[in-house]
Amino acid sequence: MQTLVWRIDPQKFTLDELQMAASLFRQGRLVAFPTETVYGLGANALDGQAVQGIFQAKGRPVDNPLIVHIAALAEIWSLVEAFPPLARSLAETFWPGPLTLVLPASGQVPAVVTAGLPTVGIRLPDHPVARALIRLAGVPVAAPSANRSGKPSPTTARHVLEDLNGRIAGVVDGGACAVGVESTVVDVTGSKPVILRPGGVTREMLTRVAGPVTVDRAVLDGDAVPRSPGMKYTHYAPRAPVFLLPGVWENQCKVLAGLLPGIPDLVSGPLGLLISRETQAELGPGLETGLGTGGPPVIRLTGSRGDLSLVAARLFGLLREFDSTDVKLILAETYPQEGIGLALMNRLAKAAGGHTWPPGRGVFFGE
Ligand code: AMP
Ligand code: MG
Repeated sequence: MQTLVWRIDPQKFTLDELQMAASLFRQGRLVAFPTETVYGLGANALDGQAVQGIFQAKGRPVDNPLIVHIAALAEIWSLVEAFPPLARSLAETFWPGPLTLVLPASGQVPAVVTAGLPTVGIRLPDHPVARALIRLAGVPVAAPSANRSGKPSPTTARHVLEDLNGRIAGVVDGGACAVGVESTVVDVTGSKPVILRPGGVTREMLTRVAGPVTVDRAVLDGDAVPRSPGMKYTHYAPRAPVFLLPGVWENQCKVLAGLLPGIPDLVSGPLGLLISRETQAELGPGLETGLGTGGPPVIRLTGSRGDLSLVAARLFGLLREFDSTDVKLILAETYPQEGIGLALMNRLAKAAGGHTWPPGRGVFFGE
């Protein structure tokens, strides 16, 4: 199958440019498209067979439900059994935006979308191309991230093609995604909201609208059984194993500095370092030459510890970049779990499979 690519300027486009992609949805085909979080791989959410194709193209486990994307708030009514006041106030505050609301599913939603659960995740994205495309298609669009299962989520059309070229009908290329981590998934079926997956809308933002918000234990504890099925799978992993540097920043710098004199035979190849500008500055020029026997480390800078939104936006792209190098092991700096830091650390902990440096599988709690 040839995968078509449509290049669209999100600031300035006409609906004509999206007509073909929209009609492919109506024909039961798969099209990837940009959202403000990551690229989604979409299919008509009301067409069970089309949705089945998403699982095949991604190699996604069938018990991992999809998020249904809508273009206007009113479209939610046919998809849910109930839309309680708590959910409504969150939708009114944060939609369009990176928030997925888990609600009781209506009979219209095929079981393949919800993985047989009685609930469905719904989101109204804040990306002009995504909303125009869904509106033109005239159907709700079920879309998980447009990566092969287990890989980092795609934040550019190039990432989508790396994983899915030849496996899907097309990609709408609308440039890089601004948020860069997936939506916050919130269960609003009970009296209090429960964060099943942290994301672009932070816990602090939700609390301001809804009062106390619970975070599902599995978000921070890799050994707990998650209530969001997708959270139980290894995710976001580059080829080389990732290890997180635990503790406060000063401690992380000490661990790295301790490695500087040389770590003979630690790995038979270069180390990858995923660190901030501040850490690079703190460790100085020795960083470039002192690490490992496999040559100088491959350093990828995440940005500044003072701007974690930008670090989050870059994370998946940087993890993917390591796959085009020959690093054998990646050490990754960690960040405080506040604001967007909670989502950032959740993705990093998943990429690392919960491993911290020095090696040992453990529950990761960060700073
Ligand atoms: P993705 O779009 O690839 O990030 O995957 C969608 C995420 O939303 C997965 O982690 C799912 O587990 C979660 N999700 C979708 N629908 C539900 C639901 N009904 N209940 C709980 N989690 C859900
Ligand atoms: Mg995903």
